Amino acid sequence: MAEQTLMDKLVSLCKRRGFVFQSSEIYGGLGSVWDYGPLGVELKKNIKDRWWRSMVHDRDDIEGIDAAILMAAKVWEASGHVSGFTDPLVDCKTCKGRFRADKLDDARCLQKPSKKPGEHSTCQLTEPRLFNLMFKTFMGPVEESAATIYLRPETAQGIYVNYLNVLNSSRQKVPFGIAQIGKAFRNEITPGNFIFRTREFEQMEMQFFVKPGADLEWFERWREIRMAWHHSIGLTPTKLRWHEHGPGELAHYAKAAYDIEYEFPFGWNEIEGIHDRTDFDLNRHQEHSGKKLEYFDQAENARYVPYIVETSAGADRVTLTVLVDAYREEEVEGEVRVVLGFHPSVAPIKAGVFPLTKKDGQPEIATALHHDLKKRFNCFYDDSGAIGRRYRRMDEVGTPFCVTIDTETAAAQSVTIRHRDAMTQERVALDKVGEYIASRITG
Ligand code: ATP
Repeated sequence: MAEQTLMDKLVSLCKRRGFVFQSSEIYGGLGSVWDYGPLGVELKKNIKDRWWRSMVHDRDDIEGIDAAILMAAKVWEASGHVSGFTDPLVDCKTCKGRFRADKLDDARCLQKPSKKPGEHSTCQLTEPRLFNLMFKTFMGPVEESAATIYLRPETAQGIYVNYLNVLNSSRQKVPFGIAQIGKAFRNEITPGNFIFRTREFEQMEMQFFVKPGADLEWFERWREIRMAWHHSIGLTPTKLRWHEHGPGELAHYAKAAYDIEYEFPFGWNEIEGIHDRTDFDLNRHQEHSGKKLEYFDQAENARYVPYIVETSAGADRVTLTVLVDAYREEEVEGEVRVVLGFHPSVAPIKAGVFPLTKKDGQPEIATALHHDLKKRFNCFYDDSGAIGRRYRRMDEVGTPFCVTIDTETAAAQSVTIRHRDAMTQERVALDKVGEYIASRITG
């Protein structure tokens, strides 16, 4: 499949089947802002739930929080975002295009034929200037007198400013972590590639507080855990790799940084960053707020500002990764079968429930089964069209199991369960269907 076509097909499937819609579409859309439809919201929620389970519920040393999007403006001065969260920007005076100076190779000039900015003889690129990516707004009744505040460009700062609150209200001791899933906003200059780079997105971030000196060991441990998580949600291991930040690439606060990259149709790109942020953030907040953010280590009888190892993944970017990784086309009996081969734990619909025909009491049994299964997981009832078509509709949205109530069901008290990938069927007792599916969708 040609690489570009794969993205086009995926974008069109996402719209047609209710995964992702363009924001404000009836008004012509809003640049790089997307809405999740009925199936997309389930898929993304399942991914976030898997993350939360592995980072918070499965561990004793991590607590969750949900901090507000709006924070005191001083937070962003302390973090360095007001002065330093910038991208270098160049404008073209001819085509009025605006590009990231460090991503000119990936950009396209607005003039035709399609070329990189600067490659047309008529291009007139300005010198790069720094552009702050934070969205600004005002807090208070009158705009002029109100305080400027920002929509947070990352969720991490909400964790740092709550570090003492969590420490004092929980039984945690260093080393411990705080996890959060929430919206972040960046006024990206060159967004694109569907939901890969958007202006409003969700992050799944965890900050792990450790004794200075123990940071590199934890950094290695977190790299391992995070890569294993991406494997656990079904991503193809050979399409994942590490990218180490070289000295020129490292953020000002970081001692070491690795990205987990995925091989998208548009190239290898970051889906998660793992960073050793040292004591930079807590020191800055200590200086700017005047509040001590030290930790007293009873076992060591020592006082220190903890070092932080961060794991930062984008929920939307991982959702795109899961969609790209799952999409496949196969030829079955002379027809093309489109399948989203999701890992069952993230599949938006776990089972389709079908009466084979609309007679002999089949719809009644199917309806009762559907209601019963719905209490445990998201299911879909379908009684329209040939059974083969119904299977295909479920394949296309990645439903791992299809349960069919047929002519034998009433007497034998059994149904067929058809598997999405192998397309094989097996007979299962009617009262065991729930258990059968439940045992196969946990990951
Ligand atoms: P990039 O280099 O792609 O702009 P970044 O290095 O700025 O990313 P981080 O600040 O480390 O990204 O953010 C952590 C994670 O948040 C990224 O790995 C990505 O999954 C997600 N993310 C960051 N920016 C965006 C965005 N504009 N749209 C969607 N997800 C994003």
